[in-house]
Amino acid sequence: DSRDFIEALNQIPLEQYSNALNALQEEQIISYLNIPICQFSDPDSNNDRQNSIWGILSLHQCYHSRRWTNEEIEILQELTNQFSLALYQNELLLTEMQKKQELMRSNAELEQFAYIASHDLQAPLQTIGNYSKLLQRRYQNKLDEKAEKFLYYIVDSAQRMQNQIEDLLEYSRIGKQKRNDETIDCQLILDKAIANLRLSIDKNQVQIKTLNPLPTLVADSNQILLLWQNLIANAIKYRTEEPPTIVISSDRQDKLLLFKIADNGIGIDPKYDRRIFQIFQRLHTQEEYPGTGIGLAICQRIVENHQGSIWVESNSGKGSVFCFTLASRML
Ligand code: ADP
Repeated sequence: DSRDFIEALNQIPLEQYSNALNALQEEQIISYLNIPICQFSDPDSNNDRQNSIWGILSLHQCYHSRRWTNEEIEILQELTNQFSLALYQNELLLTEMQKKQELMRSNAELEQFAYIASHDLQAPLQTIGNYSKLLQRRYQNKLDEKAEKFLYYIVDSAQRMQNQIEDLLEYSRIGKQKRNDETIDCQLILDKAIANLRLSIDKNQVQIKTLNPLPTLVADSNQILLLWQNLIANAIKYRTEEPPTIVISSDRQDKLLLFKIADNGIGIDPKYDRRIFQIFQRLHTQEEYPGTGIGLAICQRIVENHQGSIWVESNSGKGSVFCFTLASRML
């Protein structure tokens, strides 16, 4: 393992090294060429590491004295430069790995916290919601206009917060859950998602076309159902005056399956095409389009759980095409 070797070299204290040189002399090795391996300093960084050395590269010629040619010195010099660069890269890699591990740990902690907090918040919030609804019912027409308005705000906010917490819990569950893999017929899952959204589909007079039968793959059926449901619900929610039309297609691409869901809705400005997948990121007010801003973050998590990715191709006012890939695996 080259890293072990690199660390070992780095750990040799200089005084020990001079002992080693004495030992060489005792062995009557009288001619040697030592070139220090200086710490490589990144020209872009202002931290000055030029003065410290990693170690010494030593070339021996036994038993008789000799002069080292310029060429030999140059070769050794070049070699030490390469060592220095390799060590520097190794150091960068280690720092990067440490940072990544630290980030993963703090993300996991944060998620755990979000999960517990949202779970524990549910009960008191439900009480607030229930009692304010009760107040609304019992005291209908007995309160003045202002008091009714205040009560309405409480009920509405409690409901919104409840939706947000439910979605947040769903989001963290998907991160924690072990994927339940089975062979699924994607067409059947899509049909199920459409059946679950039937009310909204009928109310909005939505037309859904599937260009080709969707494939069979190994995946977690609940997660794929949620993925279709979220994307179709959005295609309906972000509609224009036109009756919504949704076109679904799939394609095989090497080891991935590519799915597309195109709508004729309000579209998304390309400058927000990444932001919309982040948790709580929304482009509209609650009054324009209600929502929690978690749906697409859930979709992204599901797709990534299946070694795929998700993105949007869209232009404001010209509809959106949500594309995602899933690993095409067999059990
Ligand atoms: P929510 O719908 O609750 O706001 P999402 O995470 O599902 O949360 O979506 C994030 C944002 O992406 C939405 O607020 C909306 O601005 C935009 N968006 C999502 N789907 C579509 C779509 N089909 N057409 C236009 N905009 C969309």
